Amino acid sequence: MNKLYPEVKVAPPGPNAQAIIAMDQRHSSPSYIKEYPLVVERGEGAWVHDVDGNRYLDFMAGIGVASTGHSHPAVVKAIHDAADRFLHICGTDFYYDSFSQLCARLASYLPEMGPKRVFLTNSGTEAVEGALKLARHHTRRQYVVAFKGGFHGRTIGAISLNSSKVAQRAFFGPLLPGVIHIPYANPYRCANGCEPYTCGDACNPALALEREWFVNHVDPREVAAIFVEPILGEGGYVVPPAGFLQHLRRICDAHGILLVFDEVQSGIGRTGRMFAAEHFKVMPDILLSAKGIASGMPLGAIIARESVMTWPRGSHGSTYGGNPVCCAAALATLDVVEGLLDSVLATGEVLQRGLRELQSRYPVIGDVRGVGLMVGAEFVDPRTREPAGAYVAALEQLAFRKGLLLLSCGKSTIRFAPPLVVGRHEVDVLLGILEQCLRELPLPSTASPQAAVAGVKL
Ligand code: PLP
Repeated sequence: MNKLYPEVKVAPPGPNAQAIIAMDQRHSSPSYIKEYPLVVERGEGAWVHDVDGNRYLDFMAGIGVASTGHSHPAVVKAIHDAADRFLHICGTDFYYDSFSQLCARLASYLPEMGPKRVFLTNSGTEAVEGALKLARHHTRRQYVVAFKGGFHGRTIGAISLNSSKVAQRAFFGPLLPGVIHIPYANPYRCANGCEPYTCGDACNPALALEREWFVNHVDPREVAAIFVEPILGEGGYVVPPAGFLQHLRRICDAHGILLVFDEVQSGIGRTGRMFAAEHFKVMPDILLSAKGIASGMPLGAIIARESVMTWPRGSHGSTYGGNPVCCAAALATLDVVEGLLDSVLATGEVLQRGLRELQSRYPVIGDVRGVGLMVGAEFVDPRTREPAGAYVAALEQLAFRKGLLLLSCGKSTIRFAPPLVVGRHEVDVLLGILEQCLRELPLPSTASPQAAVAGVKL
């Protein structure tokens, strides 16, 4: 196949894009973020075309969702075939093959968890919300533990667990009571302030639970669950040190608390394993999946140990969750993703090597981290190591205008979460454009993204 490159013929947003954006801005909710003025006409593999004929390399996959690439033919065919047969009958109340097949398939991953059962949802948030209910129902306990910097979705239950951006919680209260937030183990920015994670076990923020919370505030016998992202997603693509999740597992075992892995972002091959849990060799009691699971069709899943999914008939359900078209897309997606795992690991290593090489020449890149194709580069003021948020906002905009789709996360991290089908060529193109941007952008002394962008010719 011919090697593709970005092609920006009309400075975005072009006239067709502008017309759509104008209509959108007039009628859609002002709560939408709209990172930059990309108006998509179609996609293919790792490439996205806009309505003015421009072609972009996609390194964000619609927030890590287009796992098999845009419109993978096998997934599209599965969707067509399923839609031809029937669109809906309600999996909560009746049976169909793709629903049962998908539950069986998802229950077959992570055999170390033992026998499992699966509840299908429409989104990641809904999986989180359901898991909150399941954890309370199963344990008959009310408290839950979550992490600073964590993100779990947008319902009242999920935003009660969030602590990555205050705008997600502001004025929506009162939120769910009984949520304890403790620091996430961040090797680059230790909670104790030590230079990257030198204080060893004392750095482990999970110790705060046992030494402070369980002694002074909450009896652990009242704690239902610990909700944790095995790799922090929205909070900055942070890979915790090996012992962190193991420590959480030990705490849970000691106190009868359920360990819930929110793998909505890190799951479905993103890290080169079906789930990130496999890298850490720690098994949760409940695992949550969504995003890449159906290549963009709305689907999520609560995958729980059989001994934990004990809620009775009628206690939880969903009209659309596990819709037949989405289940068909998911089964086709899993077939494709299972065949990509090794190349995800290999391409991820090439990507991290390339980013580290750039880091050696551009000290504005403070840290490069990740697993598989869940890779983050944290940008900092080289003099102070403070997060360079405005710089990252400008970088995102400039890259877009050069035909590269990026998405930030945390305070100043660019996440590289491309479709899992990318290879060395796409990584080379990404690194080339990134370097052009780094050369052109003024160093992060400027206060606002507008000021930083103003310093370069777009
Ligand atoms: N959990 C994590 C870790 C996520 O990254 C997200 C979305 O970004 C969610 C939950 C919410 O998923 P959704 O947007 O599908 O509701």
